[in-house]
Parts: sequence; structure tokens; C-alpha cells
Amino acid sequence: MLHYLEVITQKRTHFEDITEAVKEIVKEEGVKDGICYIYVPHTTAGVFINENADPDVKWDIEKTLEELVPWINDYKHVEGNAAAHIKSVLTGNSVFIPIKNGKLLLGTWQGIFFAEFDGPRDRKVIIKIMEG
Ligand code: ZN
Repeated sequence: MLHYLEVITQKRTHFEDITEAVKEIVKEEGVKDGICYIYVPHTTAGVFINENADPDVKWDIEKTLEELVPWINDYKHVEGNAAAHIKSVLTGNSVFIPIKNGKLLLGTWQGIFFAEFDGPRDRKVIIKIMEG
């Protein structure tokens, strides 16, 4: 069964911590051992795993991506959001997390973030729990 998580973003760039929502889905599925697959079906958004203990880390990632890929540049894409497409490529569109004894095997400081790069928009994240 597929699960859909809705994320409504209010800014152009926004990282939404979806860790607790994903943990709820894992609990609901009741899979003891397996894999949690998280997929973002958008071309100007992404998903990544990184520190969610110190909020400054999220801020530093956002700032550095902005410096690496400025919104205004000599891009060809006529829609005007080339930077968002490039950042989506940099973060990637999916992550896998192992599940052991019914729990996600995230490290102590790790959280799962949905990454908006062309908000505000209504987005969805697709989650599939696989047993085995
Ligand atoms: Zn575009």
C-alpha cells in the first residue's frame, strides 16, 4: 500500500521535517523488518536526510544551496525556475531507510526533510513500506 503525505509550503525555499509523520506510517503498517522508501514526484522539490537536532544545520544547507545555485543566472529554461530544478537534482528525489524491530534505523541526529525549492505549492510525498 502506498501512503501519501501532503506538504503545503509557504515560501520559495522551505525544508519540512517529515520524520514524525513517516514514523507514524511505519507504526501503522506494523512491519517489523523491511525498508521504508520515500519518493518525491516533483521536479522542483526533493527529499534528504540530515541533522534535525540543531536547526542551524538546515539553515546552512539552504544558504549554501542558494549560493551554489542562485535564482537569477544565465539559465535557458523559460519557466524561470531553473534554479529549483537544479537544486532538486542536487538533493535527489528519494531515500531508503531500513526498518528493524518496527523502527526506522535513523541515526541519533538524523531527520527526514522534504525540500521545497519553488514554493509556495501543495506537494505530496509518496511512502512505501516493504517487508523483508
Ligand atoms: Zn520549470
